[in-house]
Amino acid sequence: MRRGYIQVYTGNGKGKTTAALGLALRAAGAGLRVFIAQFVKQRRCSEHKALERFSDLITIRRCGKGFLRGKSPVKPDFESAEKGYREAKDIIASGQYDVVILDEINVALHYGLLDIEDLLRVMENKPAGLELVLTGRYADERIIAKADLVTEMKDIKHYSVSGVKARTGIEC
Ligand code: ATP
Ligand code: MG
Repeated sequence: MRRGYIQVYTGNGKGKTTAALGLALRAAGAGLRVFIAQFVKQRRCSEHKALERFSDLITIRRCGKGFLRGKSPVKPDFESAEKGYREAKDIIASGQYDVVILDEINVALHYGLLDIEDLLRVMENKPAGLELVLTGRYADERIIAKADLVTEMKDIKHYSVSGVKARTGIEC
């Protein structure tokens, strides 16, 4: 069995979720099984529609109640994150998937929706062959220290500052 590593995509620039989805596509092309849990975000985005075509290899779950962006989280935010995290942990332990992507988990941790110590233990004890991918702004230093690969998307320019809203097929 080949070894799997822990990857982190963080930073303020665009491309973290896109990178993880690109990895899922590549993995499925190689016949690997992929599980994706999307924390915080609630919307059903175009990737969900696209990934339906790969449902034999890629499973994607939404476990968010919407962007927080400075707001204090409320009970449904916590419950939804915990439920998604429990399922993701079972999936990781089951050994049935080759790649597990926890999209926006860094944001969920940043807002205190999940226990970082628990995730650090999951990172420590993950099945040797599993590739674990964690995305989202505000990656904690302890997560960065435990990961094998960390890429920071640096915001140099973003059209959102000129008022461009998230576009279907490009951002959502
Ligand atoms: P994408 O999903 O496009 O790969 P992302 O995962 O890197 O982006 P998030 O931090 O999850 O970005 O941000 C959520 C939304 O905000 C996305 O629609 C994304 O395109 C947009 N976004 C990303 N970076 C910026 C930025 N620097 N300024 C404003 N909006 C951004
Ligand atoms: Mg994202």
